[in-house]
Amino acid sequence: MSENKEPAPPGEGGRLFYQSEVFRVEPAGAARPRVSRAPSRASIAEPAREVPVHAECDVLVVGGGPAGTAAAVAAARLGARTLLLERHNHLGGLATGGLVIWIDRMTDWDGRPVIRGFAEEYLDRLPRGAVAGPPREAWGSRDAATAAWWALRTAAFHGTVTWSPTCDPEWMKLAAQEMVIESGAEPLFHAWGAMPVMEGGAVRGAVFESKQGRRAVLARVVVDATGDGDLFHRAGAASSEDVDERDIHHCMNTAWLFGGVDMPAFLAWRAEKPQEFAELMRRGREALGLFEKPFVSWRDDVALFMGPRLAGFSAVQVDDQTEVEIRSHRLMAQHLAFYRAHAPGFAGAFLMLSAPQLGVRHARRLVGVGAVTREGWDGRVAPDEIGVSPPLSPKFRNVSVGYGALVPERLDGLLAPGRHLSCDATSHSFLREIPQCWLTGQAAGVAAALAAEAGVEPRAVDVRAVQRALLRQGAHLSEAVVRGLEDNPKMKNFS
Ligand SMILES: Cc1cc2nc3c(=O)[nH]c(=O)nc-3n(C[C@H](O)[C@H](O)[C@H](O)COP(=O)(O)OP(=O)(O)OC[C@H]3O[C@@H](n4cnc5c(N)ncnc54)[C@H](O)[C@@H]3O)c2cc1C
Repeated sequence: MSENKEPAPPGEGGRLFYQSEVFRVEPAGAARPRVSRAPSRASIAEPAREVPVHAECDVLVVGGGPAGTAAAVAAARLGARTLLLERHNHLGGLATGGLVIWIDRMTDWDGRPVIRGFAEEYLDRLPRGAVAGPPREAWGSRDAATAAWWALRTAAFHGTVTWSPTCDPEWMKLAAQEMVIESGAEPLFHAWGAMPVMEGGAVRGAVFESKQGRRAVLARVVVDATGDGDLFHRAGAASSEDVDERDIHHCMNTAWLFGGVDMPAFLAWRAEKPQEFAELMRRGREALGLFEKPFVSWRDDVALFMGPRLAGFSAVQVDDQTEVEIRSHRLMAQHLAFYRAHAPGFAGAFLMLSAPQLGVRHARRLVGVGAVTREGWDGRVAPDEIGVSPPLSPKFRNVSVGYGALVPERLDGLLAPGRHLSCDATSHSFLREIPQCWLTGQAAGVAAALAAEAGVEPRAVDVRAVQRALLRQGAHLSEAVVRGLEDNPKMKNFS
């Protein structure tokens, strides 16, 4: 996996850690003087007010990242009147605005694509030149030379070529936007989902903040695709926030791009002179403290930096978010000076772009009706399967993702796909990746549309109907699930 390493031996309590270069930093605020913060219990009373209803729909999706985009398209294609609320000016979430343009593996270790459906259709829409990755015939190849070539280009791991391309974020934004509009869903930008609209114990819409002030959208079903569980958290649903600072998925940082780079020259030097590369990394760490290596992008003249990763900050506290932005931007300038002076291929590098969206790997994880856990990495098929994830390494079997991981334990009217789905911290290390967010987003959109149409809560949706609709939308499910559906006479016409 792009970011993930082989699991280290079980730690305390049998937990597996995915230790990479994780940088422990002093607590937020220690570095800079602060405007004095009010005592924690100080508060003001906000007067009650009327909130205009901006729209009514069947399915409201809050958050237009990978999960939200896939959810909106999937729901609208089933005929649901769908609105997609996004606080920024673009779709794609961290995959575009976060410059996480290296899309993790969609193939299993035999080279078979297992994350399909929306993911496949979306990437197929990108124009030539906007996607860099191995050709289809190379997926799964274990030829040493081919794998070595692609390993340097983040598309081979454990000696196997994988479908894990790097994409142009601007074309990804546009493709997502056009897919949403063509599906019949309506995007609404510059709208920050602030509070769920509650009716009894169920979510029936959301209030958003905008330049027009606070406005409400009413919906039969809400898909929380904020990545941080903003909606389900404010609706009172339980979440897990367990983090281990030694674990990469707790880290945050703002990614950036350098232009004017000669990446082929850099990669050739790195491959030919590994000791010189190791020495460059050592000197970089010595000079800067926190130091990151460049990754390939969709172009030979653009380098991608998805770190240094900063640990010890909260993704849901504004002071910490601010501190990470400040530190990441300073690190960007320091890296530019160092790379220009010392790294082959970087003499003419310039600051091209820092990510408009803060890179958050983990904030809250839903406590769901079900959960994907480490025990499920043995190839067992969840009866309520809505998709299949490639496992972390060839040592494990494909991981079946159940619908229950999207459904809150108690809260009604809401589904939660994407990086805040219900899973253990270890499984989160790969379920948070972009392809898996497309997968769970598409399933949530399908289920939300079916729930809205049937007038039932998401937890009461017929899972077999969800599976059938997913297959019709090109998604991949385990053979056992497909066979089970084929045996069902109602399933004759799926293809
Ligand atoms: C630095 C870094 C490196 C990574 N590397 C990789 C990698 O190499 N490969 C890979 O596949 N994955 C990688 N990931 C993981 C991956 O990028 C994310 O986990 C994935 O994008 C999550 O998708 P999502 O749709 O759940 O959430 P997000 O991508 O976070 O999208 C959420 C969207 O919701 C919007 N939103 C949030 N709150 C609100 C609100 N209240 N109202 C309205 N809109 C809101 C946001 O603006 C955003 O557009 C990396 C992540 C980080 C941070």
